[in-house]
Amino acid sequence: MTRSSAEQAKDLDWPFFDDRHRNFKHRLDAWCAQHLRHAAHEESRAGVDAECLRLVRLLGQGGWLRHVVAGVAHGGAQDQLDTRELCLLRDTLAQHHGLADFALAMQGLGSGAISLFGTREQQARYLPKVAQGEAVAAFALSEPEAGSDVAAMQCRATPQGDGYILDGRKTWISNGGIADFYVVFARSGEAAGAKGISAFVVDADTPGLTIEERIDVVAPHPLATLRFEGCKVPSDRRIGEPGAGFKVAMGTLDVFRTSVAAAALGFARRALHEALNWARARPMFGQRLADFQITQTKLAQMATWLDASALLTYRAAWQRDQGQGITREAAMAKMTATENAQQIIDMAVQMHGGMGVKKGHIVESLYREIRALRIYEGATEVQQLIIGKDLLKG
Ligand SMILES: Cc1cc2nc3c(=O)[nH]c(=O)nc-3n(C[C@H](O)[C@H](O)[C@H](O)COP(=O)(O)OP(=O)(O)OC[C@H]3O[C@@H](n4cnc5c(N)ncnc54)[C@H](O)[C@@H]3O)c2cc1C
Repeated sequence: MTRSSAEQAKDLDWPFFDDRHRNFKHRLDAWCAQHLRHAAHEESRAGVDAECLRLVRLLGQGGWLRHVVAGVAHGGAQDQLDTRELCLLRDTLAQHHGLADFALAMQGLGSGAISLFGTREQQARYLPKVAQGEAVAAFALSEPEAGSDVAAMQCRATPQGDGYILDGRKTWISNGGIADFYVVFARSGEAAGAKGISAFVVDADTPGLTIEERIDVVAPHPLATLRFEGCKVPSDRRIGEPGAGFKVAMGTLDVFRTSVAAAALGFARRALHEALNWARARPMFGQRLADFQITQTKLAQMATWLDASALLTYRAAWQRDQGQGITREAAMAKMTATENAQQIIDMAVQMHGGMGVKKGHIVESLYREIRALRIYEGATEVQQLIIGKDLLKG
């Protein structure tokens, strides 16, 4: 068990968890120790794709993907998504292997709309394969001109016969290029703005859907821009009512936004773990780095930020599992955990000196892994607006 896992075991005594979660976490720790090792990121696109596919299969075989889909009848571990399990999974995987966390998260986010809003037929068709790691899922909401401002999307779904024709582009789509299906949001025209959007599940081999461009980012993940040109989708692939796509997207993000906080927490736990080990071992000026009060001040700040993040994350997860709305709580958790993690990881890099920026070192890869989490699934500024509006609502 890493020190960070041991610390987290203490968190499991918090009232947010029950024995089911404690047992789950112990099994997960043992599985991760056996199957996952930090490795310097594959840099080639083909290498990243292959590693991601391997991890999806591995997580499926391990039974962990069953916890990111809902419905026992469709291969899920339970009928409802358990947000605390989802967060424990991401928190733990992120401590071991950034790409494993990504692979699991995208199986959940990419199929979440089907779990939460899909028909029985859609659930039976897609979810068992997602849960087994046999089909790769993706979530296609963002567009070149519509990132934070989702309602500005231009991708069109024109009703035609017994279906729709999709035209437009989606960008920054994680798993783009390796996914078997995409949950796509498009303007179907029932009303202006957010009320005129519908959601669809589109198989990757549907004629008219192509990968326009693969995108490379600081922490390599499969990522692409998709193009839809006269792409025909039958009505039974629409998720939810016509015009309800914005609600489907936000309902899905409400669950998975909390899990982004959990992943940030996992990266930060690993950074603190590395910083403590390094500070104890590094000789300097006749003593150890850990013996300087400046170092102890940094460690105290890191540990306190980490606990604040953990409390907000698991508060939001617990609250959702009680059936309560968590729009404000999820935004607080995502904002705090990602911003704190960036600072914690930066401090760990600083404490490592030159080692901290050496390619392939764990803290160097954490430094790259954390950055996008402050941007995707709602940038920090978007979370601030959500919290502010919610406060002013009452
Ligand atoms: C690695 C990665 C993976 C992604 N995966 C997916 C995916 O799988 N599916 C998907 O649909 N999308 C995905 N995205 C897209 C992501 O959700 C968007 O990048 C994000 O919503 C921000 O949109 P944008 O990039 O267009 O930035 P913009 O919307 O242009 O925002 C730029 C910046 O403006 C600031 N800002 C935003 N709103 C306000 C405001 N109201 N006031 C002041 N400042 C503001 C923020 O700092 C923001 O970062 C991914 C992005 C990345 C980087």
